[in-house]
Order: sequence, then C-alpha cells, then structure tokens
Amino acid sequence: MRFETKAIHVGQPPDPSTGATVLPIHLSSTFTQEAPCVHKGFDYSRSGNPTRKALEECLAALEEGAAAAAFASGLAAETAILSQLQPGDRVVTTPHVYGGTYRLLEKIFRPWGLEVEYVPDVSINAFQTHLKNGAKLVWVETPTNPMLSIIDLAELAKVAHGANALLVVDNTFASPYFQRPIALGADFVIHSTTKYLGGHSDVVGGAVITARSKLMEGIRFYQNAAGAVPGPFECWLTLRGMKTLGIRMERHQSNALEIATRLLKHPKVERVVYPGLDCHPGYLVAKRQMSGFSGMVSVVLRGNSQDATKVLKRLKVFSLAESLGGVESLAELPALMTHASIPAKVRNDLGIVDGLIRLSIGIEHVEDLWEDLKQALE
Ligand SMILES: *Cc1c(COP(=O)(O)O)cnc(C)c1O
Repeated sequence: MRFETKAIHVGQPPDPSTGATVLPIHLSSTFTQEAPCVHKGFDYSRSGNPTRKALEECLAALEEGAAAAAFASGLAAETAILSQLQPGDRVVTTPHVYGGTYRLLEKIFRPWGLEVEYVPDVSINAFQTHLKNGAKLVWVETPTNPMLSIIDLAELAKVAHGANALLVVDNTFASPYFQRPIALGADFVIHSTTKYLGGHSDVVGGAVITARSKLMEGIRFYQNAAGAVPGPFECWLTLRGMKTLGIRMERHQSNALEIATRLLKHPKVERVVYPGLDCHPGYLVAKRQMSGFSGMVSVVLRGNSQDATKVLKRLKVFSLAESLGGVESLAELPALMTHASIPAKVRNDLGIVDGLIRLSIGIEHVEDLWEDLKQALE
C-alpha cells in the first residue's frame, strides 16, 4: 500500500460491530470482561483504547516503523524517550532543537542527572567529535527550527551507531510524507502531531515511533505507568487530519517555494531561509533524504528588528501566532515567542536574530498569501 492509501485505511477498517465506515470515538474508560482478565484486548483506557490503537497503527505505518505510541503532547512523547535513560547517561544533541525540547533537557532532565551535550554546528564531523566519549542517545531535528538547517540522517545514523548510541529524530517539520527517518537508520522518531499530522490547529498531541518492536517495550510501559495519554477525541481528530496529509503537504510545499522565491527578490528582504532554494547550504542533502521541502520559511528583513514587529502587526491573512503545520498561514518572531526560553546569547549564535520572522505557509491561495506579505512589507 502506498502512503496516501495507508493514511486513510491503516488501523481503520469498517467497525465490525456496526459497519460504521468511519472509526468510532471510543470514549469508554473501562471495558467489560468475560471472566477476570479475559477480554478483547482492552481493560482500561490509560493502558489501551481502540481509537488510540488505530492512531498508533496508522502512525507506525506512515513512518515505516515497527510500532507507535501516542502521547498527550509532543513534549510528553519526548519525556517518554528520555525517561528510558538513567541518571549519568549522556545525550548528544544540537542547540538547533525546538525551544521546549531545550527547556525539557535543561530544566527537567539535567537536574535529574542526565548529561546533555550540544553540538554547535550540524556537520557529521562535529557529531563524531562529540561522540568520542560515547552517548546513549543522539537527538536531532531536521529541518531544524527555525533556521531550517539540514542534517544528513543516513550519515548521522552510522556515526551514532558506531558510538553505540541510538538515534532519535524529531520529524515534526518534514512530516512522514516528505521524510522517513527510520528508513534512513533512525531508531526512534518523535512527532508533535499538533503540527502537520493533525494539520488543522485544533488538537495537541505527540507520538513515538520505534524502528524495532523491542524498543517499544519500555515506551509502552512508560506510557501506561506515567499516564500522559491522549484522549480518544484527540486521537480521532489527529487521525482525521492525517487522512489528508499527502495533499496538504504538496500544497504547503508549492506555496512555500513560491513565497520563498518571491521574498528572495523583495527589496526589503535581507535573507530567506528555505531548504528548497538551491542557495540553501543543505539543499543537496535535503533533496536526497526528503521527497519535498515542507512549508516552513524563515525571513530576515533589512533594517532593524522593530521593523519585523511592524510587519507582523500589519499581516491580515497570516495570523500572528506560535505553532505551525496547520492549513492556515501563521507568522511569528522566534526570539520573542517560540524560542524565548533559549538564552539570548545562544539564540544569536544560532542565527535566531531578533528580527527573524518564521512563516508557516498554509494551504490558502498563494496569491492571497503573497498580497498579504507584500502589503505588510510596504
Ligand atoms: C511543537 C513542537 C514540539 C512540541 O510538541 P507539543 O505538541 O507542543 O508538545 C516538539 N518538536 C517540534 C519540532 C515542535 O515543533
């Protein structure tokens, strides 16, 4: 079965008891047993729920993984993986991670005893150097947020495995439609399903997908023991969003490429960052490991950083909002919004200057998006 077909059918056959074509939302918190411990696979909804199971099966299929576990948010999914480690274990990552991931590592897991090391640039050589002392996990995002740097996943998997570390890839920005890290050697994929997978900015969720079933054992145990599970309605909304992932991603990408190309020529614009432009330093690797470049574009304007705030306030079709990956276009200022939890010095070193604008290009008509940006820039 191909991607678009899996997105609509895996885990969701017609309901055997009623024939309902669309998966029911199973709200029941408990399940009636025929005899003690004799049941149809479900006993209590924290441990397992039929709507959640359908979502997990579909996610595993789309990421070409062995199994998936759904969580109440992307950060809950990240916590599940980090909780597999012991105090004293090392994680090698980059400062180019989602601001909330950085906060989770620094404010929760470092005090708990995890050693966290940040590789300043995203070259494979730099990772190799930092892995000399070994590590339990290598944790990356690609494209990164919000600088959209590209990390060569096949090469990184080799280097990580050479150091006996497992590779975790946050695939939120690309979505499984454009990038499948497990096929490139990753051991864990995580998602904030809040973004492209859900796709409509109406549900918060997360997921862990593992390359091998063995790796799922600890995650599954943690999911039940710690309990940060999504509700059945959230699972259902996410699944409904996922059915149109393919066609949405195609439009996100074609709109983003068009907007990025036009912004590049605009006199008020100093720099456009989009991995689908051949001037992007990661263009060739992105072309090799992704089947498309997704819908995120970052822009630096000429002039001072206050101009960026003025432009954001003048937008009418774009909403000034955090988050990304929904059908509607969003614009934000990472330094003040999504990445405010990263210290200013670290931010500036990463290129997240105060005037950097991050655009999540939606699936509206591209001319309406361009007219909106044009009037806000002028
Ligand atoms: C939003 C996001 C997260 C966190 O997910 P939540 O669902 O908000 O908890 C993690 N990684 C990336 C890349 C994100 O964009």
